[in-house]
Amino acid sequence: MIMFLKPIFIDKVWGGNKLKKLFNYNTSNNCGEVWGISAHKNGESTILNGYFKGYKLSQLFNKHRELFGNYKGEEFPILVKIINAKKDLSIQVHPNDNQAKKYDSLGKTECWYIIDSEKDTEIIIGHHAKTKEEYVNLINEGNYTKLLNKFKIQNGDYFYIDSGTIHAICSNTILLEVQQSSDITFRVFDYKRLDFNNKLRTLHIKESVECVNIPDNVVRRQHNNEFFSYELVDVFEERVCKAHQHGDYIVILEGIGKINDMECKAGDFIMISSQYAYHLYGNLIIQKTWF
Ligand code: ZN
Repeated sequence: MIMFLKPIFIDKVWGGNKLKKLFNYNTSNNCGEVWGISAHKNGESTILNGYFKGYKLSQLFNKHRELFGNYKGEEFPILVKIINAKKDLSIQVHPNDNQAKKYDSLGKTECWYIIDSEKDTEIIIGHHAKTKEEYVNLINEGNYTKLLNKFKIQNGDYFYIDSGTIHAICSNTILLEVQQSSDITFRVFDYKRLDFNNKLRTLHIKESVECVNIPDNVVRRQHNNEFFSYELVDVFEERVCKAHQHGDYIVILEGIGKINDMECKAGDFIMISSQYAYHLYGNLIIQKTWF
């Protein structure tokens, strides 16, 4: 079964309007995140076509687990989004599964694929502190230049952001994020910026100290991990596929074409049910996630 999913547009103080042009989305001028494949309570995908039209993804997951290959976990495990950073995101860290239990959530390991960035755009992944004491001192001093590992990125780069990795997406970056289904972010620093209500956004320095990796791991420029896998597929004319055991979750990044007899285009999010055979036609670049 092939199900198109309706994305959710989320405004952020650091968002912008670039996704209107790139994916023809009807967003505001502050759109920061597009949640494309999500069964998370803070923003859920809705099925747009076929027998289950109108279902929320969590409903489908709870009532028709056979479409997900009878996946055993209690909740739909992944969330796929497009992030549009016109300005810098906060410097942040996410908890792992164990640390997130007290918030009744999964942890948040995430992977990034850089869709579009401007020349000399940077990113922050990891820190240089050797001990917890050094980490806390550098934060108290506000010495983020010394603390953080900042470097230049290019379109097409992949990064693996294990939970416990301090990170920040910087201005002028559009990326695809595949993550565990979680919405817990501990902000360490937010550039003293005001939110849409003219209030400072809350920081969570104590929580960040509890879950940040010290000393840090080296930056991993790849994407497969214990929670999910994904690949980028270049479709030229035709490609025959069969969905993985728990389904395939597709984002079309470029082009127009067809999936079986249905038209598809850049910006579409599609779920293919467990082991379903499908054909892709046209010239497309797609990203396919499975778990
Ligand atoms: Zn993050």
